[in-house]
Amino acid sequence: MSLLEENIANIKSRIKFAAERAGRNPENIDIVAVTKTIPPEIIQKAVDSGLVLLGENRVQEARDKKELVNGNVQWHLIGHLQRNKVKMALGLFSMIQSIDSLPLAEEIQKRAEQIQQTVDVLVQVNIGREKTKYGVDPDNTKSFIEKIALFPNLRVRGLMAIAPFKQNPEDVRPYFRQLREIFKNIKQTHIDNVNMEYLSMGMSNDFEVAVEEGANMVRIGTGIFGVREK
Ligand SMILES: *Cc1c(COP(=O)(O)O)cnc(C)c1O
Repeated sequence: MSLLEENIANIKSRIKFAAERAGRNPENIDIVAVTKTIPPEIIQKAVDSGLVLLGENRVQEARDKKELVNGNVQWHLIGHLQRNKVKMALGLFSMIQSIDSLPLAEEIQKRAEQIQQTVDVLVQVNIGREKTKYGVDPDNTKSFIEKIALFPNLRVRGLMAIAPFKQNPEDVRPYFRQLREIFKNIKQTHIDNVNMEYLSMGMSNDFEVAVEEGANMVRIGTGIFGVREK
């Protein structure tokens, strides 16, 4: 087994144990391999080892790499999207996890309508209310989703968040729990054109806590590919 394969197996088994601790089925938890700064040859190896969801932060970087990676994979945008890059992004990503403002949602609606495409999106929530992070305020998430639910070419499929960084992952549990409550609340409201299916939370240092708190999509970079050089 290569180191990469070992890393992937290790992440999968830790997800399995975390899911079992919470009485959940590990098969319902998707791994997004975060490939920012990782060269296409290495990404290809991860894909060949069975990973099917890839997360990139930058539109341009994804465009350059996408044509060099083969296989049945889906690329997700997980970083902030500038409005002038929306057009390019629509052709590249099967999901945009980082809807963080109304003007961005409006621009996506406009561009998607032009090309008669429906775009799957997650709403990014700034769960720690950090000035340095993008995302809608936790208190406004529901009203934000009610607004963008009216955009016919957008389909809201859930929520995404980056928790504040803490040395001890236990300290992020309250944030994940809060996001799960927001998720549940919106799901129970049954808003037209909104399918609350994905709760994308948890990264290399905190994914086990996220899974225990209900994440069904975790985004792992370092844990799979090692520490990024850039
Ligand atoms: C980089 C990144 C990740 C992965 O971070 P790791 O700590 O390397 O697992 C996950 N989500 C987002 C939005 C990121 O930018």
